[in-house]
Amino acid sequence: MLPESKRPRESTERRGLLFVVSAPSGAGKTTLCKEIISIVPGLQQSISYTTRKPRPGEVHGREYFFVDEHQFQDMIQRNEFAEWAPVYGHSYGTPRQALAEMMEKGLDVLLEIDAQGAMQIKKRFDDAVYIYIMPPSLEALRSRLQHRAGDSPEEIQRRLQKAREEVWNYREYHYIVRNDDMKQALKELEAIFLSERIKTKRLDIAWLEKNFIKEVDEKPADRQGSVTT
Ligand code: 5GP
Repeated sequence: MLPESKRPRESTERRGLLFVVSAPSGAGKTTLCKEIISIVPGLQQSISYTTRKPRPGEVHGREYFFVDEHQFQDMIQRNEFAEWAPVYGHSYGTPRQALAEMMEKGLDVLLEIDAQGAMQIKKRFDDAVYIYIMPPSLEALRSRLQHRAGDSPEEIQRRLQKAREEVWNYREYHYIVRNDDMKQALKELEAIFLSERIKTKRLDIAWLEKNFIKEVDEKPADRQGSVTT
């Protein structure tokens, strides 16, 4: 079967791009992603399903769809996830249909998922852009996790251990953004989103034909001697 990014589309509009952002928990990824969504037009975040309990201030349908293990397993059985993975003892998954609908509308979609999920997406979407956010250090990570409400000391320990192992996956990503300084990290992220959109391979051929080829055919004489490299 063809990967999803290669399947024929009904519309000639540009299909949305998929951006996958991973980082160890506490690296500042959630804040950065929220900010970047508000800065870059046409970029939307996919909302995942999770079996973990909401943290204080989190809202069902905004940060996540919070479901129980039974509901999550049903969704797996019905093949409703584009990817899913167990993370820190809970399950997390990206809803397949919502993702497809956003991309079909031409919206660029940001997936904030862990490295296991990112590797599953890699098998399905060969054109996605992979970004890894690096925390400044393990110490900085520990401090951020300790200041965040809602995680027990055991949970923090688990997250630090995972970070230690996970940063070595960095080679699987196209871009590394170091989050030492939030403003700089945001600048770098914005540069990635904007540059990826204007890559030559993403040029909409239908647009090019409509705006250029027709006119050139009508005035063949104009073409002579006009070719430059
Ligand atoms: P948290 O519980 O701190 O919100 O997220 C824990 C981890 O789960 C983070 O690394 C986050 O990126 C990851 N995560 C969130 N949603 C998904 C998802 O849909 N799929 C996968 N594979 N990981 C996710």
